[in-house]
Amino acid sequence: MTHPAPIDVLSLEPDQLRARLDEHFAGRSQPSYRTGQVVKWVYERLASGWDEMTDLPATEREALASAFRLSEPTEERVAVSKDGTVKHLWRLEDGALVESVLIPTRTRLTLCISSQAGCAMGCTFCATGWGGFERQLTAGEIVSQYRASRRWAEAHDLGAITNIVYMGMGEPLANRKALHPSLTILNRGYDVGARRITVSTVGVVPGILELADRPEQFRLALSLHSPDSELRRELIPLEKRHPLPEVLDALEAFDQAGGKRITFEYTMIRGVNDALELAPRLADLAMRVNAFVNLIPFNPIPYRDWRPSDPVRIAAFARILEGRGVSVAVRGTRGRDIDAACGQLRAHVAEQLGAAAKGS
Ligand code: SAH
Ligand code: SF4
Repeated sequence: MTHPAPIDVLSLEPDQLRARLDEHFAGRSQPSYRTGQVVKWVYERLASGWDEMTDLPATEREALASAFRLSEPTEERVAVSKDGTVKHLWRLEDGALVESVLIPTRTRLTLCISSQAGCAMGCTFCATGWGGFERQLTAGEIVSQYRASRRWAEAHDLGAITNIVYMGMGEPLANRKALHPSLTILNRGYDVGARRITVSTVGVVPGILELADRPEQFRLALSLHSPDSELRRELIPLEKRHPLPEVLDALEAFDQAGGKRITFEYTMIRGVNDALELAPRLADLAMRVNAFVNLIPFNPIPYRDWRPSDPVRIAAFARILEGRGVSVAVRGTRGRDIDAACGQLRAHVAEQLGAAAKGS
């Protein structure tokens, strides 16, 4: 007889976890309050192993260990920036490596998490894109970045994580099978408010529509980078499959679904997408879907000799947007001293902090 694969506790939505545990304990003639005990250990006390669940009898802990899996990534590397930004490199069970970043400010602690190992989208300005796609993460692997980071933050007196952004490695809307449960688990299991969670995408239209349909008010960030379809195509290959007009229609649906906030991310690359003529066109798009605009200086990557736009140009660009009634923020970069290997994780997280601050 072959054994059924142990069930991954961290990938289950809270309702599913309760149902599975009820079934498990009923089969062992255990009282039903055992389920509540385990659920509390998982979501509130962030237990990383069955042995920690000391209010359960040892025989029950053993039975749980053979029926369920509770696996956590191991900390491969951690780097702390002078400005307080903390980057983790996590090693998953099969050896795949993913990054997450903690960004403290005076009032917030934002966590940036990865949704895939690598990314298949091939955006030309993005280090992860150049690295190619390795594999999808499971919901549990997405959620475990939060669990492990929260424990790290608590142990190092950084306080509680207040916001989560899906802006690490990967395109979350190209991994919707894991994204949707991960959102539910963070929101309903770990009690992170939907409006404190932002999903960032390059424009995967079916995924945007699915998020529009969800009842929760998760936030959406569109990595726009150009209001011009032809120029955008050179930066983001997905533009060929889902051109801007189609993406904008999907964003309109998202905006009209009510109570949902959209941010445009605009990475400013010198001489590539920072012409002042583009600003009014960007403003029109932002007004159409009530988007907040973040302007982020490009982070140089090893694969292209592009440079960030001049700060004076970025300020001029921002003024044009403001003049047209668009809410805009110019972002600096955080964690510059620790982020050499990953060309993308720092800027867009700092950017999102401001969007959340303005939007809540
Ligand atoms: N795949 C999703 C989420 C991960 S990328 C997305 O693209 O939206 C998160 C953000 O980092 C995106 O806005 C992306 O455009 C930005 N980014 C990627 N490379 C960058 C770079 N070299 N400099 C600045 N921002 C970058
Ligand atoms: Fe993937 Fe986002 Fe990078 Fe594009 S910008 S390659 S979608 S991670």
